[in-house]
Amino acid sequence: MTFDAVYSLAFYLMNIEATSKIVIVGAGFGGITIAKTFKNKPVEVLLIDQHNYHNFQPLMYQIATGGLEPDSIAYPVRRIFRNQKNFSFRMAKVENVSIDTQTLQTSIGPISYDYLVIATGSTNNFFNFEPVKDKLLTLKSIPDALNMRSYIYQNLEKALAHQNDQSIDDLMNIAIVGGGPAGIELAGALAEMKHFVLPKDFPDLDMSKMQINLYEAAPELLSAMSEASSTKTLLYLRELGVNVHLNAKVNGYDGKILTLADGTNFTTDTVIWTAGVKAAPINGLPEGALAGNRILVDGYNQVKNTKNIFAIGDVASCVTAENPKGLPMLAPIAQQQGKLLANNIVKLTTQQPMQPFKYKNKGVMATIGRKKAVVDLPKWKFQGTFAWLVWMFIHIMSLVGFRNKIMAFYDWMANYLTYDKPLGLIIRPYKRKE
Ligand SMILES: Cc1cc2nc3c(=O)[nH]c(=O)nc-3n(C[C@H](O)[C@H](O)[C@H](O)COP(=O)(O)OP(=O)(O)OC[C@H]3O[C@@H](n4cnc5c(N)ncnc54)[C@H](O)[C@@H]3O)c2cc1C
Repeated sequence: MTFDAVYSLAFYLMNIEATSKIVIVGAGFGGITIAKTFKNKPVEVLLIDQHNYHNFQPLMYQIATGGLEPDSIAYPVRRIFRNQKNFSFRMAKVENVSIDTQTLQTSIGPISYDYLVIATGSTNNFFNFEPVKDKLLTLKSIPDALNMRSYIYQNLEKALAHQNDQSIDDLMNIAIVGGGPAGIELAGALAEMKHFVLPKDFPDLDMSKMQINLYEAAPELLSAMSEASSTKTLLYLRELGVNVHLNAKVNGYDGKILTLADGTNFTTDTVIWTAGVKAAPINGLPEGALAGNRILVDGYNQVKNTKNIFAIGDVASCVTAENPKGLPMLAPIAQQQGKLLANNIVKLTTQQPMQPFKYKNKGVMATIGRKKAVVDLPKWKFQGTFAWLVWMFIHIMSLVGFRNKIMAFYDWMANYLTYDKPLGLIIRPYKRKE
């Protein structure tokens, strides 16, 4: 018997009044918010994700650099919804949607829906580096971040073993490609590790040999933020000893040498790719519903050429006169769309008019290191220590679960007071594919 049949039978046996079945794919910022907003609403909610946890991607770089443990930025989906009666969860990968039969094909069998919400987020975009993507490290998931942490420590152990008999530049140097929030936050955290943590862990290794290079193809860092934030970020990174290369387009990587369009190159075993993401839609959507990889939605997040399918967050593109390129891929947008869409779907089921989505920009921020952060609020832009405190407060409050908030606060305070990072275990050694 398929999962779908068991699910329907269970509801029948429990004599629950027939209600609309909303299936949400993706337990990211958008999926979790919409599922929560359906609490106490007259609908059945089934959330599907390939993982059994929700993770907080903006702090992924903290896992990679040993500042936080993985459990501090992730939370089991089932635990988030323990008190929501109209909710159920299945861990499965969704392969395909069949619109005619209103069914999803998943790794655990077919699942039917009355209304479908696609909140599958985005995945790495390697552009011209696609053929060598296996040689790159990425920062899109907790396993990615743990691989990166292991790989850096493994290379330092190797460098220590080989320092007398060969050049160890490739083992010690690190290149980061992409000067957006993920790239600059990672570069700052690695630079602090190099100065404060690694000399204590590897006293026999000359850490001054480690070069951290950041490459950005555009003429500035953080191009989505204000000029003041971008300029200050550059200054902060240079103060920390990061070699920032602007107008620097990377051309290729052979596993040892990173080459640039201007003919220069950099020897390193560690190239971290933060240069782009692309939407991760599910297959089977009707023709005309996709623009590139993003799913085209109208002002109510309804997918083009469909009746009962919606998309929110990174995967959705709502092109309007106000936003001709669609909205940026940001967590608050996914959350705001999720909240409104839950209320709109309830309205739809009760034949009431839906309300169009309007993004409320509450600001963007990034941190470079201790007492170094940049914050752009709609009416106020500031940088430095106060920005860093605001950044920490907002991020701690945004973590799911009381324990995670306390753990992150404790780790950051300990880090601040001791100039140390607690985590550097190579629990699961990472072997790069060649
Ligand atoms: C390193 C990094 C740093 C970032 N920093 C910031 C920041 O500082 N501020 C900010 O606002 N945004 C930031 N972002 C972007 C932000 O994380 C995204 O905009 C946000 O996660 C989008 O939410 P979402 O719900 O659309 O998708 P996601 O949160 O990505 O969730 C998608 C979910 O769908 C699941 N899924 C995907 N495909 C399938 C499938 N076929 N079957 C089953 N499950 C599937 C995934 O497992 C995942 O759980 C950052 C992103 C990264 C990677």
